[in-house]
Amino acid sequence: MSYDNNNIFAKILRGEIPCKKIYEDQFVLSFHDINPQKKIHALVIPKGKYVDLDDFSQNASPEEMVGLLKGINSVAKKLGISVNTGKGYRALANISEDGGQEVPHLHFHLFGGEKVGKMVSE
Ligand code: 5GP
Repeated sequence: MSYDNNNIFAKILRGEIPCKKIYEDQFVLSFHDINPQKKIHALVIPKGKYVDLDDFSQNASPEEMVGLLKGINSVAKKLGISVNTGKGYRALANISEDGGQEVPHLHFHLFGGEKVGKMVSE
């Protein structure tokens, strides 16, 4: 699938749609999910145009890959859910249709602030 410049996260990245920002650096933007599934439900997205994790794994630069992983850790620390803070969380990426992905810009969900429960509910 080619990248759709009009997907909702592309619009958030361009500042055309507001978000409740948590963290930003040169590689990632993080903001609260509009429809939180847990007490804490953050999204972390790369700034590059990648449709999903497979696209990112095949086409992103090593710097972007490291930047995304470090960005996830920075967000978890900022939210007080990282292992450093004695907590924990779930990082999850839905990939394409069978994976349940709705927004076609790679994103990791970070769930925390409480026990997040079983890994797969259905
Ligand atoms: P997916 O199913 O693609 O893995 O997850 C997409 C997520 O994006 C959903 O959890 C949904 O609530 C969230 N979302 C969709 N539109 C918006 C929006 O405009 N703003 C924010 N903050 N989150 C959104």
